[in-house]
Amino acid sequence: MARDLGSLWHPFTQHASWPGDDPIVVERGEGCYLYDTDGNRYLDGVSSLWLSVHGHGVPEIDAAVRDQLGRLAHTTFLGLTHEPGIELAEQLLATAPDGLTRVFFAGDGSSAVEAALKMAYQSRVQRGRPGALFLHVAEGYHGDTLGAVSVGGIDLFHGTYRPILLETRLVGSPGVLGPGQSRAQRAAEVLDEMRAVLAGEDGQVCAVVVEPMVQAAGGMLTHEASFVRGVRALCDEFGALMVVDEVATGIGRTGRMWAVEHAGVAPDLMTCGKGLTGGYLPLSAVLATEEVYAAFLGTPAQGRTFFHGHSYTANPLCCAAAIANLRLIESRETVAHAAWVGERIGELTKGLAEYAGVRELRRIGTMTGIEVEPVAERTGFAVCRAARRRGVWVRPLGDVVVLMPPLAIGDADLELLCGAVDESIREVVR
Ligand SMILES: *Cc1c(COP(=O)(O)O)cnc(C)c1O
Repeated sequence: MARDLGSLWHPFTQHASWPGDDPIVVERGEGCYLYDTDGNRYLDGVSSLWLSVHGHGVPEIDAAVRDQLGRLAHTTFLGLTHEPGIELAEQLLATAPDGLTRVFFAGDGSSAVEAALKMAYQSRVQRGRPGALFLHVAEGYHGDTLGAVSVGGIDLFHGTYRPILLETRLVGSPGVLGPGQSRAQRAAEVLDEMRAVLAGEDGQVCAVVVEPMVQAAGGMLTHEASFVRGVRALCDEFGALMVVDEVATGIGRTGRMWAVEHAGVAPDLMTCGKGLTGGYLPLSAVLATEEVYAAFLGTPAQGRTFFHGHSYTANPLCCAAAIANLRLIESRETVAHAAWVGERIGELTKGLAEYAGVRELRRIGTMTGIEVEPVAERTGFAVCRAARRRGVWVRPLGDVVVLMPPLAIGDADLELLCGAVDESIREVVR
């Protein structure tokens, strides 16, 4: 730790309090557990920040990466192609919502969002519709690069940067309810607000960007499927593209392969990341419709090319991990298992949902947020510290305690996770 404190700057970390937070130094991972350098083990209750699918140290994924390493670690994807990239694109499209036919690879969730925003704008321009506004939702989160921050809506994270961001239009969050309001009423209200903006801007909105079914980083704010369907209908009516960010919700997290399946709609552009490589390596993708893709075709001189890419686009090691991950998801029926995990979390947290110290418990599939009554500064953090003493590692979003275990978690570990969090909340929030 002394060496860490002497040299590092961690993401989303207040370094004035970091030394006092007694950080864990992780040495290895196995299954759903992380082991520290003192030999303690912790259940990884948030999948190492929403990534891990089959757990840590999965023999099949390890072997796939090693095998690929024996052939090729990396080559550019600019003007070259390779089998792992092709294979992964085919596998992704085989699972994707109807109409998505093209895969563009990026590195992290944020960079997938950047690519999707540029694709949305450019494809419309090249079809003769030059609108440059993005419409997005309060409490939304799409990553930390400037384009992604521009379509974010969490003041604490994004407010500081407003002067250096793109011009956008913001509507309310479908997951933040007025007093006595139902989720269905709130969805309808935000859709009305969206309609007014789209009508008022008269074709200037090129895309509507949403996290489908749940705004994860905003505090696991769930909303009705009617909201997602309504966004699709408004995009069709006003000629805007529907961009869904499935970086958190995709790859089985909500108990379906993609969260948009709950609503039965298909977007024009869809991002995925986080669980794509099973929590192994950084890789993300944008899936696009043939219509969006076709808008980029032309002679080189026409300049209709998508001038965007990264040094490590479609890195073969990352692709190999993702292919092995998707194969395991299919052969082990991991998405159906994830739906069961979600139901089990629901049962095991029933008592908490009624506890006076809990404001609201929100969940879709395995994505669970337990909003506790603040009793001090950093109440959510205090609950997570108490859980750590019980052998469970979870990280909160403010005063929302997040549970998001690896999709493959079994019943005994789920009981440990939910039991430890239940006791910790009762200990901290009396
Ligand atoms: C985490 C997240 C991102 C950003 O992904 P990174 O890999 O951290 O850049 C984007 N969108 C959503 C919905 C996310 O949850």
